[in-house]
Amino acid sequence: MIVRLAAAAAVFAACATVAIAAPAANPGANVDTARIANANASPGEWLAPGRTYSEQRFSPLNQIDAANVKKLGVAWQYRTYSVRGLEGTPIVADGTMFITLPWSIVIALDAKTGKELWKYDPKVPGATGRYACCDVVNRGVALWKGAVFVGTLDGRLVKLDAKTGKPIWTIDTVENHSHTYTITGAPRAFDGLVVIGNGGAEYDSRGYVSAFNADTGKLVWRFHVVPGDPSKPQENAALTRALKTWDTTGKYKFWKIGGGGAPWNSMAYDPQLDLFYFGTGNGNPWNRELRSPKGGDNLYLSSVVALHAKTGKFAWAYQTTPGDTWDFDSTADVVLANLKIDGKVRHVLMHAPKNGFFYVIDRETGQLISAQKFATVTWAKYVDIKTGRPVEEPGARYTKKMAVVYPAATGAHNWQPMTYSPQTGLVYIPAMDAAGMYVGQKDFQYRHGAWNLGVDFAALSKAVLEMIKSGKAPAPSVGYIKAWNPVTQKEAWQVSMGGSWNSGLLSTAGNLVFGGDAYGDFSAYNAMTGEKLWSIDLKTGILAPAMSYEIGGTQYIALLAGWGGAGGLSAFKDPDTALSKYKTNQGRLFVFKLGGAQQVAALAPEGTPPEEPPAQTADAATIAKGFTLYHRTCLVCHGYFAQSEGEVPDLRLMPKNIWASFDDIVLGGALQDNGMASFKDVLTPADAHAIEAYILQQSHEAWNQAHPKAKEPAAKKPVPTKH
Ligand code: CA
Repeated sequence: MIVRLAAAAAVFAACATVAIAAPAANPGANVDTARIANANASPGEWLAPGRTYSEQRFSPLNQIDAANVKKLGVAWQYRTYSVRGLEGTPIVADGTMFITLPWSIVIALDAKTGKELWKYDPKVPGATGRYACCDVVNRGVALWKGAVFVGTLDGRLVKLDAKTGKPIWTIDTVENHSHTYTITGAPRAFDGLVVIGNGGAEYDSRGYVSAFNADTGKLVWRFHVVPGDPSKPQENAALTRALKTWDTTGKYKFWKIGGGGAPWNSMAYDPQLDLFYFGTGNGNPWNRELRSPKGGDNLYLSSVVALHAKTGKFAWAYQTTPGDTWDFDSTADVVLANLKIDGKVRHVLMHAPKNGFFYVIDRETGQLISAQKFATVTWAKYVDIKTGRPVEEPGARYTKKMAVVYPAATGAHNWQPMTYSPQTGLVYIPAMDAAGMYVGQKDFQYRHGAWNLGVDFAALSKAVLEMIKSGKAPAPSVGYIKAWNPVTQKEAWQVSMGGSWNSGLLSTAGNLVFGGDAYGDFSAYNAMTGEKLWSIDLKTGILAPAMSYEIGGTQYIALLAGWGGAGGLSAFKDPDTALSKYKTNQGRLFVFKLGGAQQVAALAPEGTPPEEPPAQTADAATIAKGFTLYHRTCLVCHGYFAQSEGEVPDLRLMPKNIWASFDDIVLGGALQDNGMASFKDVLTPADAHAIEAYILQQSHEAWNQAHPKAKEPAAKKPVPTKH
């Protein structure tokens, strides 16, 4: 291995001297399939979200290495003035960096100095925030022939002039606005096409990916993940076959309420095979009993799908969770590599989705080569290599009673990208161990514009309370970096991270792995051993993966810091997150180099100091009703028990003027521009009152805890009598 390392280092050193002095007049003008496919010829740039079409997120730069990384420090930082999650990977071409912020805002910076060159705000209506399951985030842009492409939260694809930030064209990618679609993922560009998927499978979407002509914006092909109306011909033969794996006789017709399968994140491309790969999401509703009551695999939910890139025609699919009922999206990244397995070089695709198995798949045929658990997994025993199917544990499906399984719906590995280092031969996974609780919702009613899961979050929140009271709560979630050998399907090393909802990862030819955590600690590890070599407290929680680039002979590491996403929104108070420690989640881009500053100052917290909440006038029954409605409607953004982590307002800390405007906000949409749209389509005034009463109860509890009643004067204490 040492020999291999040294040889690789020599090769990379030879090509790592490409120097770019200043931002080009026309950044990314010559970025096309050939340049991205041959990314190692310009290792100082990072031209696509995963750097290469193979999505390995490995930088060949090696100026920063395991020996000198302790001198790494902040070269410059750029404040984003955002308070929601930052999930994007910066793109760097010709000395210009492109980043995206919450609400799909795109910013171009001088990659050497951090000077802002332009900013594009697509003006996503604030009301869209309600329809984004997992925060108003954006995971980045695609660069193609002098243009930058961004998918907006409200479903548009916008082409911008990379030099000026001026829009060239805008396309509405949503084919049916009576269903709920959002875009948070980064587009990919190849072969004159720009491809984008969508989210919405928690609401009522029918997922699809679309390829547009990068010049004209014309739709070239579209592939739907799940079948449509069974009384009509399906769009293609693959969907006709898929239809047989769905039960069409249930009360809720999946083609009317969407069916799900949202391809909201991962994509990869193989120019040699001309295959395009993407991961698909959970079913809608989550609960298969409601979606497809007689069972069935429900193709192509929770799958990796391969399409012929030019035409969008189906090539193959591999379903990681047949008949998903746990929100086990298969939307974690898809990483392509050539691995020597049993003496033969195999062209593989690697995938570590939410369900906790690490899959190595022949990317030409879709044949499963191997699958093993990389985290704590109790929903299935193993994957049968002959059938390619998981062998489920009895009781993992919550058809009769509550099921507690590992992983949780947040997954053993979510969207936060893993990275493959061809130098070490290891995959580095930002992994989690979290127990998931599932209870079927007996009185489920489909509601357009609300979460339609068929899982009763009110019942399971009650169960959580009881478990906490009786001291039998499942172990707290933990996060770690798992270094995984994809050939042997065994762990190489593992290190613990702060919190469980942590950042994506970067590996570099300096024998380093970079990762950050919910505490705000950003660290470098020896890629071979996992030894922590360097760390800095950024005072802001971290979700996004780092990337690396080089200008004028200096290697930089860049990282967006700002906590949030699905895990950030639904988390309840955890004293260990950076948000709790520093009372702020103000986003920043950090750029590091050797010899930079070793300390980062916290930004002053924003927010309202708590004051005594108004008096409670509701009765116990109303508060109990409010508990149920809250956990079925509000939890997804404002957290369990109205205890938001702080990324969106902690409702218990509402000031008096907000309490007074409660109905105006919840029903009237007064704060719609902040992302809090009206819920009057799903809540009655009595419902809103009950929710308010429940939050008020929580608020009083928090107030009383912070302001304990003055102790009784000693004299009034009963005097113990001596016998
Ligand atoms: Ca999902």
